[in-house]
Amino acid sequence: MTRLLLVGPPGAGKGTQAAILAETYGIPAISTGDMFRSNVVNGTPLGLQVKAIMEAGEYVPDALTNEIVAERLGEADARAGFLLDGYPRTLDQVNELDRILLAQNAALDVVVLLEADIDEVVGRLLKRATEQGRLDDTEEVIRHRMAVYAEQTSPLIGVYDKRNLVVRVTALGAVDEVTARIVDALAQRGISAS
Ligand code: ADP
Repeated sequence: MTRLLLVGPPGAGKGTQAAILAETYGIPAISTGDMFRSNVVNGTPLGLQVKAIMEAGEYVPDALTNEIVAERLGEADARAGFLLDGYPRTLDQVNELDRILLAQNAALDVVVLLEADIDEVVGRLLKRATEQGRLDDTEEVIRHRMAVYAEQTSPLIGVYDKRNLVVRVTALGAVDEVTARIVDALAQRGISAS
């Protein structure tokens, strides 16, 4: 029963690490960005609502985001633990997650903060832009996503720090080096791989 959050600026490698950690700890990786992107690709009503917002690098409104997460966390696999990648990103989302977990009589174990400097992550995202063609990976939108992160999401770290949940890991270096740092940090908190 491990419940983890993965927090960090765009380009810190959350998605990559989330997939590996989910495997390592035997828990589902739940990415709001992936859920929104698949709705956009499939042209669902939700996808139509969020497409332009995502392309502009803005956050999807809390009401929509909270709804899809509440639904997902109610599914059987997530009842036994999860790794949330990219949620919560606002204080309103923190409150919603608290509410969901309280109702399940559950609690977060650790918030993993992937730390990276802005120039490094912008470089990574521009590289990904040429490889994957994500529509929110243009330089202008990337800079905007960084600003939105700094303004709306970085204050969450203070909230979770007060609860003594935050583990800081540097996101620089090779993928497996970053994974090893996270696994070490979690082991120090008594969380071991399944
Ligand atoms: P990144 O971490 O690189 O920004 P994500 O895939 O996590 O990439 O998110 C892509 C986009 O999806 C965000 O820019 C935003 O528009 C939307 N999104 C994802 N998660 C959230 C969230 N928790 N709240 C609001 N919008 C979100």
